[in-house]
Amino acid sequence: MRVPMIAGNWKMNTTVSEAVKLVNELRQGLDEIDNVDKVLCPPFISLAAIGELIIGSSIKLGAQNLYFEEKGAYTGEISPLMLSDLCKFVIIGHSERRQYFHETGEIINKKIVAALRAGLKPILCVGERLEENEAGRTEEVVTEQVKSSLAGINNINGLTIAYEPVWAIGTGKAATGEQANTTIGLIRHTISKLYGQRVAQDLRILYGGSVTADNATEFMQQSEIDGALVGGASLKADQFLSIVRQTSEIRQAR
Ligand code: PEP
Repeated sequence: MRVPMIAGNWKMNTTVSEAVKLVNELRQGLDEIDNVDKVLCPPFISLAAIGELIIGSSIKLGAQNLYFEEKGAYTGEISPLMLSDLCKFVIIGHSERRQYFHETGEIINKKIVAALRAGLKPILCVGERLEENEAGRTEEVVTEQVKSSLAGINNINGLTIAYEPVWAIGTGKAATGEQANTTIGLIRHTISKLYGQRVAQDLRILYGGSVTADNATEFMQQSEIDGALVGGASLKADQFLSIVRQTSEIRQAR
């Protein structure tokens, strides 16, 4: 059975001291919850401080991005090698990076390759925009994003995919559990065609897009959904704890 994951994407929020405060509010509560992988993805600048704080805890750390080169003259960038000292996970291909930083399928593919090579576990984000959804192109868009992101990669061990419809991110308009489950089933089918049934069944696929403590159960009850990538609600300790707790309870009841 796939272990669910709840990952918090803090985006460009929290100073180092705010990040430390939030982890102090979360740590004990998260450590009391079993059966769920709990991943916090703060801004780069807080990874080291949080890493110290969570020694001995079940909390895992992730970054929100990386650059695909190992080192060199790339002012302002952070390499997979640097991250591998600080965290286990890394979000790649978030729609905000595609939209504001013009990340293409080719760039995202290079980042996934680089992350896997460095021993990091990528959380690959895919998802259609509103106009694509309205034009009935969700399956086509998401399938193309999965294929281009994974082009030439033979072994996806360590990968997680997050299905995040762009129209649901930060808008308060979440997909329904059923919609998310259907698209995630299609993603699993694509993975099955590329890597075989066994790999597809083992792959964790999350839903992301306006997940809160109020709607988490609806998503976690779906058979194809293995957790959530949570933005806004991950900045509120009570909300995030509730989402993780609901996920654990549903898993235990299965
Ligand atoms: C995200 O940033 O990946 C996300 C899903 O954000 P939100 O939960 O705020 O919609």
